Amino acid sequence: MNEEIRSKYEAVIGLEVHAQMLTRSKAYSSDLNEYGSHPNSNVTVISLGHPGTLPRMNKKTVEYAIKLGLACGCTIAREQHFARKNYFYPDLPKGYQITQDTTPICTGGSIHIKTENGDDKEIHLTRIHMEEDAGKSIHDVDVYDTLVDLNRAGVPLLEIVSEPDIRSSQEAYNYVSEVRKLVRYLDICDGNMEEGSLRCDANISVRLKGVNEFGTKVEVKNMNSIRNVQRAIEFEISRQIEAIEKGEKLTQETRSFDALKGITISMRTKEAANDYRYFPEPDLQPLKISDEQINKVHAMMPALPRELFLKYTQELGLSSYDAYNLTENKGIALYYEELVKLSANYKAAANWMMGDVKSYLNEFGVEIEDFQVKPNMIAELIKIIDEGKVSTSVASQKIFPLMLKELDKEPMKIAEELNLIQESNEDSILEYINEVIRQHPSEVERYRNGEKQLVGFFMGQLMKVSQGKADPKASNALLRKKLEE
Ligand code: ADP
Ligand code: MG
Repeated sequence: MNEEIRSKYEAVIGLEVHAQMLTRSKAYSSDLNEYGSHPNSNVTVISLGHPGTLPRMNKKTVEYAIKLGLACGCTIAREQHFARKNYFYPDLPKGYQITQDTTPICTGGSIHIKTENGDDKEIHLTRIHMEEDAGKSIHDVDVYDTLVDLNRAGVPLLEIVSEPDIRSSQEAYNYVSEVRKLVRYLDICDGNMEEGSLRCDANISVRLKGVNEFGTKVEVKNMNSIRNVQRAIEFEISRQIEAIEKGEKLTQETRSFDALKGITISMRTKEAANDYRYFPEPDLQPLKISDEQINKVHAMMPALPRELFLKYTQELGLSSYDAYNLTENKGIALYYEELVKLSANYKAAANWMMGDVKSYLNEFGVEIEDFQVKPNMIAELIKIIDEGKVSTSVASQKIFPLMLKELDKEPMKIAEELNLIQESNEDSILEYINEVIRQHPSEVERYRNGEKQLVGFFMGQLMKVSQGKADPKASNALLRKKLEE
């Protein structure tokens, strides 16, 4: 689209994220909550909603909802009830979902994201409420029929509804990434969008910059990755602006994202919207939450990415870039936490995590939780570098690869066995320097005639003949001195 036209408009976006809870059993029954089980094997009369069966609240779901609410600074409702949301669908055998309508467990609060230019921005939350998932209609396994798997029916969900504070597809991408990071840190959802355990509906409207009123919103569904949330929003913004520019009137509707074509397609308009006939769920008692219950959850809260980010930038003196990268993955952050208990060289510790350790994990597809080299070994490696016993490059190229193979061997031991201990002793360094000078008479000549930048070449040669063992600091001064002679 024409940049000039595009820049006249501003997007307004609010997201509704559904997170499947990692509970052992379902929201209102003891049926197993397990992804990937044989179809329709985690289903009893309660999931099927047979007449006469009664739901019972899963306490873990409430605990998880409080956990997420506390992490986002929400107000936790002390008294609430459940509601029935009625509609017909083949994968909803009960004919209704148990959800929360007028009394969500959490209200207010916010999630911090980064904007395009790296600034911190607070996206306010409207509410977080508890509900249950429906079953799954499968259209692509049988050629003729749609199959229904009810294992998912009754799986507990938290729905996180944001205020329309998001202004671009990139901010939306960052927001969903933050939500996923948060639920993973809290251990309440695996955050896997491809498997559908985290899902996102995007509400999008556009308006001319400077206008206060919101435009007509469109809700887009069926994005199975964070990248697709971004693509769907980007498409929708352009589509809406083009329609407005042509003088068309937008209608409030629900659209579906087609990931192959990269477009959204109308599913239903507001006029055809469901009337869910919400009413208080008569089979579940109203839920009361005490201070004691909240305090108990509060006491069990793990460290959260934002807290760690602030600690790393403010207390450990890391750059925002390093702090952000370290906290992006919970396992990496926890490993780093262990490492900085053992090494006060926080920056070097961060470099090892983001450099050699991460490269190894990426290359071999290993999760940090399965990384065999323990933090004390990395701390020891940093220590011998700081003591000048080995250079960083020798540590990275020669010692670290062996530490991966010989898990119990101290880095210092490896360095000794491979004869890698750096020479800071003047006599031995001098021997290397003399050899380099002997080997490169013409470069020495040029250096002495004023090409001082050749010192880099000589240092390189020195490292080569010493096999990386000459301590660079001690060598550099000595080398210059000899060359000047
Ligand atoms: P509905 O009643 O259609 O569900 P809500 O008011 O509950 O609508 O809002 C649902 C989501 O849509 C929220 O995330 C909210 O922030 C967002 N939203 C509301 N109005 C707009 C708008 N004009 N443009 C974009 N998003 C909006
Ligand atoms: Mg709504």
